[in-house]
Amino acid sequence: MTATTTATAGPATEELVRRARSVIPGGVNSSSRRLPGCEDLTVVATDGAYFTTADGAEIADFQCGFGATLLGHNDPDVNAAVAETAARTDLVGYGISAEEVALAERLVTHLPGAERVLLCNSGSEATFHAIRLARVATGRPLVVKFQGAYHGWSDTVLPGGVGTPADRLNTPYTAAAGLLPEVVAQTLVVPFNDLDAMRAVFAAHPGRIAAVIVEPILHALGNVLPEDGFHAGVRDITAEHGAVMIFDEVVTGFRHALGGYQSLIGLTPDLTTFGKAVANGYPIAGVAGRADLMDGFATNPGGRAFFGGTFNGNPAMAAAASACIDKLAATDPYPEMFRLGDRIRTGMQEIFDEAGVSAVTSGFGSCFNTYFIPKRPVRRQEDVMDNDADLYVGLRLEGVRHGVFEIPLAFKRSIVSAAHTDTEVDRLLESTRASLRTVLARRAAGTR
Ligand code: PMP
Repeated sequence: MTATTTATAGPATEELVRRARSVIPGGVNSSSRRLPGCEDLTVVATDGAYFTTADGAEIADFQCGFGATLLGHNDPDVNAAVAETAARTDLVGYGISAEEVALAERLVTHLPGAERVLLCNSGSEATFHAIRLARVATGRPLVVKFQGAYHGWSDTVLPGGVGTPADRLNTPYTAAAGLLPEVVAQTLVVPFNDLDAMRAVFAAHPGRIAAVIVEPILHALGNVLPEDGFHAGVRDITAEHGAVMIFDEVVTGFRHALGGYQSLIGLTPDLTTFGKAVANGYPIAGVAGRADLMDGFATNPGGRAFFGGTFNGNPAMAAAASACIDKLAATDPYPEMFRLGDRIRTGMQEIFDEAGVSAVTSGFGSCFNTYFIPKRPVRRQEDVMDNDADLYVGLRLEGVRHGVFEIPLAFKRSIVSAAHTDTEVDRLLESTRASLRTVLARRAAGTR
């Protein structure tokens, strides 16, 4: 922490931060890990609902590896599966391993939209491959995504992320440096929860749209929930126009239900992308979907969509995912995670209401966040753009001083895992109440 946020600072932290900055740009390995005001957060150990910093501060983690550590940090059963597999086999990179088959069988069993599965290593790879397959299968170039959604770092899906201005809706939008304009021009951005906009974009580009990629809940913007019938509408419109519906369950898969969000709403997408929580933090992801479509990947004789990756289906990672899925099936942690999520949402809203702070708490199951906006329904990005980011981030930075970590970036969702209990929830709510007092007092004094 900086001088003002000293909960985790100490000599070991300072030393690690110094070494990191001298060999890693900014000291961190992801743009999303660059946390202004919290640049010297270090992690040396993890356990259940907690992580420990280089100087021994124990922090209750409400970020959970961006949602990956669903069972809690360092789950013993998942770790045992990795250790047992790695002791027996590493990577050959050819042939068929029992672990990748066992995982694909489980995915076909649990995910309604999965008749075939291919494995890769990250969510960004999964969405990249799904889109390429859709383009090959349809022979069309364009991809529709929703305003504010994040589907990974590739040129097709990175445009139109958080902050897409209203005047660039339905048009190609170049946001990030280094993207090829020719590729970006193939991406069309429409508002979430707006089926008329979807119909309009299909009408404007007849026979040209290969795929619609949609996150079940707009988690990239916190928790923007789909209205009843929205995804069914996307399903109908894509089917009517012969476009591929890609349900990006990289966050929602396994987190909200073992069968993904699609199992909760009875939807069968053409393709599903998954990652994050499937292996409780170990790096593995994939694409699943209709057999006739998936057979278009060039892993299959006659398939034309290239699919490659040295580490694809790494046996130890596949074993981690199977162990995670088996544990989710055996323990059914969902009712308890949903109960804790409800407790947090109610508790947070009460805290802000009592303090007279205009706030809208949102979330689903284990995910939650509070927008500091006038009271209104949150249906799409436009509804949250006046979020008081200063308060949002300020509260979270202050929370670290109380031993609670929610990622201090505007809009980011917070999360509980199956290892969280009422004890951590009490700590979060107490920390929020105390942090709010501090931040409001600072604002009143004009010192921020
Ligand atoms: N899709 C969604 C919905 C995501 O939230 C993310 C990551 N936050 C990705 C894809 C990309 O996954 P990864 O970071 O593993 O590349």
